[in-house]
Amino acid sequence: MSEPTPLPLVFDAPKGRAKPPRHLADLTMPERLELANEAGLPAFRARQLSAHYFQRLVDDPEQMTDLPAGQRDELVSTFLPQLMTPLRTLEADRGTTRKTLWKLFDGALVESVLMRYPGRVTMCVSSQAGCGMACPFCATGQGGLQRNMSTAEIVEQVLAGARALDRGEVPGGPGRVSNVVFMGMGEPLANYKAVIGAVRRLTDPAPDGLGMSARGVTVSTVGLVPRMRQLVDEGVPVTLALSLHAPDDELRNELVPINTRFSVAETVAAAREYADATRRRVSIEYAMMRGINDQAWRADLLADVLHEHGTWGWVHVNLIPLNPTPGSKWTASDPADEREFVRRLEARGIPTTVRDTRGREIDGACGQLAATEG
Ligand code: SF4
Repeated sequence: MSEPTPLPLVFDAPKGRAKPPRHLADLTMPERLELANEAGLPAFRARQLSAHYFQRLVDDPEQMTDLPAGQRDELVSTFLPQLMTPLRTLEADRGTTRKTLWKLFDGALVESVLMRYPGRVTMCVSSQAGCGMACPFCATGQGGLQRNMSTAEIVEQVLAGARALDRGEVPGGPGRVSNVVFMGMGEPLANYKAVIGAVRRLTDPAPDGLGMSARGVTVSTVGLVPRMRQLVDEGVPVTLALSLHAPDDELRNELVPINTRFSVAETVAAAREYADATRRRVSIEYAMMRGINDQAWRADLLADVLHEHGTWGWVHVNLIPLNPTPGSKWTASDPADEREFVRRLEARGIPTTVRDTRGREIDGACGQLAATEG
């Protein structure tokens, strides 16, 4: 069987399309006040609506009883237009893992996953409809990039989870979102401005934003080096997760085609710079693929590559078990190979974890979000 033709790498979403509705989560508080002014509304309405959205987690106009009944609809359509419609929610782990398929205003489909653990709730969100990075083992990458998501579309995925938790719809009683990981569909740093906007909305104190700690937010990247450097200057010390998947250029060029632009050495150096600047440990993501990148010698090489950039504990490795797909070229490693990989990294003093495979049975684990309606 011949290999499929590689997809072209796409860095920019197609231009000239209709934009998603403008929503208060797209705007800073001063911009919201300006919008109120332009719409001939008192500025304090922008604050009230922000409090409903980010603090009280209310999206039903009927519950916004501090707004004049006659103006509610106008206020809500100005500041809180509907951004997405849930098409389907699949549950696993007795309801504590929930994957939602969303339809955006233009019909684009994206997915988010809520995962509740004892003591924390993580939302995995999409940042693009599709993805242009063309990693051959990834379901999302196979469909190419449709478009970038807006800041509010990204934030709304988290808020939808926050509202479900607040209403007690997720087993375990009412709760809050404690962590957000940008590991759903898309390459977050290829939609840089909207993603940074979303990070700010999530971490701005209420009612301007959701008031989360930046420590609870993880932005992943396949290694867009200039954007990794730019992230340092934003002053929001989110955790950076670098999807490395191979320690050598030869294999990484194949698994993560952006590597042909930014080599392993450049990418890991940029990750180390990020760790130095923020004093936050970088997470190296490594999807374990049977017979492809899981050999013991590659574990040794990975340790060499990481040690070349210093040993102060700037990094840890997170191994991601792929879905077992018998017969596929991209399938899960043998558990013994996985254990040996971990052992070799740890023997070299590199903290290593194996990601739990939450959501596997609902295709919610990384590299599986393909957003199909079928
Ligand atoms: S692995 Fe990530 S960056 Fe690569 S194609 Fe999939 S979603 Fe895009």
